[in-house]
Amino acid sequence: MSETRIAIVGGGLAGLTAYATLLHGGIEPEDITVFSDSGPDPAAVWRRQAASIRQQRMRSESDGHCLPTSFPGLAVRAARRRASPVPLLQSICDRYHPTVAEFLEHVEELRERTGWDRRIVPRRVERARAVDGGFELDDRGAFQHVLFALGHAELNLPAELVLDPRVVHAYEPHDYAEKVAVVGAGMAAATEWLNALAAGVRVTSVRRRNPARRPLQVPRALFSRRGLTAFQNTAPAARVELLLRLGEPSYPPGRAWDLPLERAAREGRFQVAPELDDEAQIVCATGFRRGYRHSPLLARLVDDHALETHEHWIRLAPDCTVPALTSAGRTLALAGTAAQWAYPAADTLAGAKYAARGFLRRVEACRTR
Ligand SMILES: Cc1cc2nc3c(=O)[nH]c(=O)nc-3n(C[C@H](O)[C@H](O)[C@H](O)COP(=O)(O)OP(=O)(O)OC[C@H]3O[C@@H](n4cnc5c(N)ncnc54)[C@H](O)[C@@H]3O)c2cc1C
Repeated sequence: MSETRIAIVGGGLAGLTAYATLLHGGIEPEDITVFSDSGPDPAAVWRRQAASIRQQRMRSESDGHCLPTSFPGLAVRAARRRASPVPLLQSICDRYHPTVAEFLEHVEELRERTGWDRRIVPRRVERARAVDGGFELDDRGAFQHVLFALGHAELNLPAELVLDPRVVHAYEPHDYAEKVAVVGAGMAAATEWLNALAAGVRVTSVRRRNPARRPLQVPRALFSRRGLTAFQNTAPAARVELLLRLGEPSYPPGRAWDLPLERAAREGRFQVAPELDDEAQIVCATGFRRGYRHSPLLARLVDDHALETHEHWIRLAPDCTVPALTSAGRTLALAGTAAQWAYPAADTLAGAKYAARGFLRRVEACRTR
């Protein structure tokens, strides 16, 4: 057996959320191992991506944090710190978006307070195999309960642009040329339009269709119990269709986004085009490669255990566990983007909490048997 009962594979924001949730549920830190191939900083991957697009504010609201309970959220914290009710009032109308700096400060505090760094084993897990009473992770022995919080696969670039020397991915650090094409039309693209325009650049938004305008990554109804239950009762083919639709680009509505674009369009500095032209730089705001097949660990898990899949997704139970590998005595669960089959907004901080709570319930049920 391994030295601990529980393993979290992936030391990012979803991993930290799960760890904090387990401690909140009374699990001892010494019972948890966290495998991370990107060092002990849980924000290491996210920080670089957010900094690359120069993101200043979170898309999420007060509850977009890594704590086990949704309330009190970051608005309460900001209200206390600023000695002002404004963040709370904004939060009531769904208008409070913490700054990235506030969010990262909270992550750092949680990391420190929970002793996260002491639970980290700095290595990449290559293989997970079901054995009696748990899962063997490489040569580290068997863990009874395992949560995969692996984050995204590699960055996605349109095939025809892979070799183009003008290309940079939005999630890689970059400056701007004088004339820039931004490919894509989601949140990262919209953030790039505004930042490039503010830097005095001429911007062409290259897109095949117009983005949806949504405050959050998925419609608010899908965060509610009722909306979620309806989603989880949807048959596989319809669920695939819905998830593909939800994956289409979107960014929030509002004047803060529209006014700078309208002004720049009037000045001839912003235009929308279906194709690239002679721009000196092409910023691809085209996200990540999608689906479990792009994660070697998940692809192997599916193949080794003949798991049920649908298009890009591994079939999950509503609590984000893999039904074929989870029983009263052991748990295999997914968090982050890979858990969309159970929770469409899995790749958000709210989604990380949802998966973490499901995992804790399984661990607790096993403890009380
Ligand atoms: C720019 C940007 C802005 C965003 N803004 C918001 C927002 O405002 N609000 C919101 O709610 N969400 C936001 N999101 C979405 C979401 O919060 C992030 O995607 C979040 O980082 C997901 O956490 P994660 O742990 O799944 O992935 P990550 O934070 O990427 O962590 C995954 C970790 O697992 C490690 N790993 C992977 N495979 C293995 C392996 N086999 N063995 C060991 N370690 C492994 C990786 O190295 C990494 O450290 C944003 C995302 C991006 C990219």
